[in-house]
Amino acid sequence: MFYKDAQQVYRVQELERYGWLEHGFGTRLSEGWPGGSPVRLQQVHSAICLCADGSADLPGPADAVISNTRGRTLSVRTADCIPILMVDERLRAIAAVHAGWRGTVQQIAARAVEALAARYSSRPEDLVVAIGPGICGKCYTVGAPVAVQFQAWFPERTDLDRATTIDLTDANRRQLVAAGVPEGRICTGAPCTCCQNEEFYSHRRSGGKPGRMISAIGILP
Ligand SMILES: [Zn+2]
Repeated sequence: MFYKDAQQVYRVQELERYGWLEHGFGTRLSEGWPGGSPVRLQQVHSAICLCADGSADLPGPADAVISNTRGRTLSVRTADCIPILMVDERLRAIAAVHAGWRGTVQQIAARAVEALAARYSSRPEDLVVAIGPGICGKCYTVGAPVAVQFQAWFPERTDLDRATTIDLTDANRRQLVAAGVPEGRICTGAPCTCCQNEEFYSHRRSGGKPGRMISAIGILP
C-alpha cells in the first residue's frame, strides 16, 4: 500500500517493516534524497543490471542496479517511466530498476531478479517488489510499432497491431510473476505521473523536457 509522507515522498507499507532498510519514491515536491548521495545510474533504456558493492562508481550505463552493502543507497530517476524497488528480506539485498517501454520489452525487472540470484543467491520468493509511480495504462498511448512488442506480455489482447494504450506497470508485474516473484509480494497501485501532474514530473505532459523524480532504496549502515 502506497502513501505519501510529510516529506512528499511516496512510501510502501510493505517495505517499512524492515528496520535495516530505507526507501522512497520522490515527487516533484521532494527534491533530492534525504540522507546523502545515492548511487546514480546513467540510464539508457537497456537490459543492463550492474552491481554496486565495493565502489559506488558504476563502470558504465545501466537501467538496474543491485547491492547488499551496508550504508549503500541505490537510485533511479524517472518521469513517466516506471521506478521499481526490490528487497530480498532473507539476505538483505536490494535492487533499483528504471523501466520505460524499451526496458520493459527487454525485461529489465526480470534481469534484476536474475542478477540478485546470480550474485547473492537470492530466491525470487523472498523478494518484495514495489512498482512505483509512472504513467498509467489509460494515459500511455503508443503507436503500433511499440504496441506489437508487448504481445508476449498481453496475449489476451487483440489490439496490439495498432495505436493503443499500454499499462507498463502491469507488464512489469506480469514479468516479475513469470520470474518467480509471488504475486502477493508485488506492490502496485502507485499514482500516475501523467494524471497527477501537480505532484509528479511527466514526460508526456511537459512535451519532453520534464524534471526527474528520484526513487531510492538503501541498506542502513
Ligand atoms: Zn494516467
